[in-house]
Amino acid sequence: MRRRDFCAGALALAGLKALEPSRPRLFLTRARLDHLKRKLSGSHSELWKIVRENADSLLGREPPSNYQNQGEMRSAGRGIPFQALAWLLTGEARYRDGAKRWLLRLCEYPRWEQNDSLAAGECLFGVAVGYDWLYDQLDQPERRLVRDKLVHQAEALRNGPPVHHDLWLANHNHVEHLGLAAAGFALRDEVPQAEAWIRQAHSVFLKALEFSSRDGGSTEGHQYWAYSAESILRYAELARDLLNENLYRFEWLKSLPDFVLHSTLPDFSAANCVMSFGDSHRAYEAHGPGHILYRTAAEYRNRQAQWLAGEMLRRGVGRAAYCGWASLLWYDETLAPAPPSNLPTFWHCYDIGWITSRSSWDADAVLAGFKAGPMHGHKAQKYYDAHPADTHEIGGGHGHPDVNSFQVYAYGKWLAIDPGYERPKWTRNHNTVLVNGKGQLGEGQTWFDRKAVLQARATSAMSKACFSGPTSSSWSMNSGRSDRPASNG
Ligand SMILES: [Zn+2]
Repeated sequence: MRRRDFCAGALALAGLKALEPSRPRLFLTRARLDHLKRKLSGSHSELWKIVRENADSLLGREPPSNYQNQGEMRSAGRGIPFQALAWLLTGEARYRDGAKRWLLRLCEYPRWEQNDSLAAGECLFGVAVGYDWLYDQLDQPERRLVRDKLVHQAEALRNGPPVHHDLWLANHNHVEHLGLAAAGFALRDEVPQAEAWIRQAHSVFLKALEFSSRDGGSTEGHQYWAYSAESILRYAELARDLLNENLYRFEWLKSLPDFVLHSTLPDFSAANCVMSFGDSHRAYEAHGPGHILYRTAAEYRNRQAQWLAGEMLRRGVGRAAYCGWASLLWYDETLAPAPPSNLPTFWHCYDIGWITSRSSWDADAVLAGFKAGPMHGHKAQKYYDAHPADTHEIGGGHGHPDVNSFQVYAYGKWLAIDPGYERPKWTRNHNTVLVNGKGQLGEGQTWFDRKAVLQARATSAMSKACFSGPTSSSWSMNSGRSDRPASNG
């Protein structure tokens, strides 16, 4: 999509001109805070302990200082919400001072990595939340410093435009636009540009939800699925509160718990938790999924999602998740958890072509997984098939050339396994067939995306063998007879 589409889109943002609510307004209100405070020593005590644990670990620290470095700047963006939330809930000055120090230091950096990237999106989000949650603790010069920085960075990201802005399903796009949206909502009543930031973000999230699988999955694997899910859920909350727009009507959001429940290992632990295809670790590491499960459980009254979130909490999954503060806000203690024992043991995530089957829901069950779907899912493939001359990408590059591959987990061990995060990506590292020693189109590239596949197809068009899995649309394998193998395409 070109930038003009953002401007021309006929979005009916009904609430855009509405009277701005008082602060805090991002995720929290004074009434919600008062309500939450009453639960901290009861139903929410374990989740509050985690927020405090993370806030304490940040106290006295400065944000990472290498503002050119992506990894450091991503961490920098994540340092504010835990401390700011602990301040709002306790009134303890050390949390306020820690959050302020972090916020103001970050605003002194001349740039946030590339300014139009994942790191910039995370910094925008953290600073926007800090501005809103700490507003009455900032003096006028401090407010000006933060506001000017938000404007500068949001405009840089909007005008860039973000490098992933038209990859509707790519996790980066969601992180970047959540940051843009948060800045917009934080400054909506203060700067005229804020409305354009919100419009652009809204347009991107609607496209993402339109092209998302109805089954709640992502071809980028569970780890990057979590980046997307936690960003889109945060946007859905902002949109409902501040635009009066309900995005929970989209099936992808409703089905998010299925993607977790059916892929979770029978005897899961924090270190060994999930069977995934694509660039995913077997743990969620810094990306939940407790808060994702709590939000969707509460929204759709999904008792199994509530159960799994609680079990994960008990087993220490995602204890240091950088968005873990959201679990405290999103947990609904009135929903009774229910174990998944009555759910089907077979699950087909149709759009992305993933299947899991388990012998039971017990801890000693055998779990098998199989994948046979198009690169970015059937919806995206339908778009590609209808636009053969268009090179527009819809999905992200963290999938693998692994059609018809399988995995098996049994007796507490991996018997057949996916390589996990790999660069470059090879079919031969998967449990699937090679033809004359060669793998599938797009292999050998850093990112498994449409460009890599089209490039490979062009170099091997005369010598490819058609390969169709039971649920894939059509897939091609390089037969190895071309002058240049696909991996060098
Ligand atoms: Zn793989």
